[in-house]
Amino acid sequence: MDIAVLQRMLERERSARKEAERLLEEKAEALYNANLRMLKQNASLESDIDKRTAELQKAIRETNLAKEAENEFLSKMSHEIRTPMNAIIGMTHLMFDTVMSTEQREYIDSIHYSANLLKGLISDVLDLSKIESGTLNFHARNMNIREILKAIQQTFVFTLKGKPVQVLLSVDERLPQVLSGDDVILNQILMNLVGNASKFTEQGFIEITATKIKELEHGAILVEIGVRDSGIGIPADKLASIFDKFSQAASDVSFKYGGTGLGLAITKQLVELYEGTIDVSSTPNEGTNFRVRLPFHIASNESTSSKENKTLQETPLHAGKLLVVEDNPLNQKYLGKLLDKWGLEFDIANNGLESVELARQRSYDLILMDIQMPEMNGHKATIHIRNIEKYRDTPIIGLSAFAFEQDVQKSIESGMNDHLSKPFSPTQLRDKLVTHLSKMTEVDQTSLTEFVFNPKLDLQELGSFYEGDVQYAVDMFVIFLKNISGYTNQLSAHIQMEDWEGLCSVLHKIKPTFPMVGLSEQHAIVCALESEAKNKNVNIQVYQVKLDDFIHSVDEMIPVLENEVQRMNEFIENR
Ligand code: ADP
Repeated sequence: MDIAVLQRMLERERSARKEAERLLEEKAEALYNANLRMLKQNASLESDIDKRTAELQKAIRETNLAKEAENEFLSKMSHEIRTPMNAIIGMTHLMFDTVMSTEQREYIDSIHYSANLLKGLISDVLDLSKIESGTLNFHARNMNIREILKAIQQTFVFTLKGKPVQVLLSVDERLPQVLSGDDVILNQILMNLVGNASKFTEQGFIEITATKIKELEHGAILVEIGVRDSGIGIPADKLASIFDKFSQAASDVSFKYGGTGLGLAITKQLVELYEGTIDVSSTPNEGTNFRVRLPFHIASNESTSSKENKTLQETPLHAGKLLVVEDNPLNQKYLGKLLDKWGLEFDIANNGLESVELARQRSYDLILMDIQMPEMNGHKATIHIRNIEKYRDTPIIGLSAFAFEQDVQKSIESGMNDHLSKPFSPTQLRDKLVTHLSKMTEVDQTSLTEFVFNPKLDLQELGSFYEGDVQYAVDMFVIFLKNISGYTNQLSAHIQMEDWEGLCSVLHKIKPTFPMVGLSEQHAIVCALESEAKNKNVNIQVYQVKLDDFIHSVDEMIPVLENEVQRMNEFIENR
């Protein structure tokens, strides 16, 4: 090949390479520019996303703040309204005990009725706001569904006493003993439904049932809880709206039966929170049937509830003196009946203020504290009681209906040790008592039994009365000493006026106080004097001598009792 051809080939290759290099550069630049554009777009996209995210977060924050503010407002308002409301209700109770004309009584009746209605409305609005604001969460716990249903049944058997309405319960045998679900929400659903049934049923029955419907995925089961009654029923055209807020079946319902029309709205929201369903069927004048279907899990650890319950039930209760703080007379009776049955001594305080006063004056081993009460609520009372030296470690158990997790938390924060949701079954209460009374300090029990009374007094009687609770004995002795001379003066005055009825009534009143201070002999004399005074043919002269002797024998014992008070106080101080 000659040189010229070679050079041309080289030239062609060179220019082809140059062209390729130029093209490469061009493409590289295009790529670079495209990359640059993409980076720019990306940056603006990212800043857009950041901006949107910030806007979204701000909106969420603002919504949450608004929700919180609304919640706080509602809770503050309801609290602010509840306090004077309780005062109004309390005052009307006091007025009922005074002498009033028929007209005044009617006015007070109506104030009392309206105040209660308003209080119910405030509670409902608050509950609803808690649910709607999402403050209320579902908390699964192991529970004994039979126990819960039994407690509800017993509560209403008790409330409906005097009304010819039977409260029946039947639970499907296929339901396991222990299930996992939210017992607090379940309780509230049941309270609302059975509460309505009891309100709208004048005679017949209320039947509570629990039936296993089917197995669900992941070992859960669907349970239907029915609340059927033979009451006034609901008209067909009202059934659809019965779950709406402020909805009542007829315009006169509120007037005749009370209520606010919020109960079923709350119930429906609670059922939904439980991922369940609720429906109703009803026939006017025949009755109503509510059916709630709720999913439950089979408890993974059966022992948590049932087995523990069994052992606790078998455990004997430690003796102890209880303070029951409860404003509702029905609940006072229910609790009193149970404590009596278990042989536990107790005092009742009608509100927080009274409880603090009693706690200061006497000594208690355990306190059952209602939360919502007039005068002073259970949280405040607990804080006051905890500040009293001798109650630093005393178990205080809060009692309240509709206790959500945060309510329980509030109770614990105020210084309570535990919490029991109303309504509770005897077993549930006993379990709590067994747990907490057994924690009573040994020191307390041993030192209490050491005080020895003056043998002039009935030691056996005093022993069984006070079981070594010296402080309680001091309190009773002091009360006796404060009042006895007033009563003996009244006896002398009645006999002088030959007022046998007045005499009998004073003797009857003082009769039970003598054994409490160990004066068994005087107790026997009072009993004899009372039965003699009831006999119309009694010889006044002879009776007068007997009465004087009796008064004299009591007077003689007063210094002995005073001395015992002093010795007991010294004993307590040195303990
Ligand atoms: P309320 O506070 O008025 O009882 P609810 O939301 O609980 O409010 O009930 C709404 C209305 O539904 C009641 O006012 C009553 O008219 C009707 N209702 C609910 N339960 C029953 C029932 N068991 N029997 C008859 N009517 C009922």
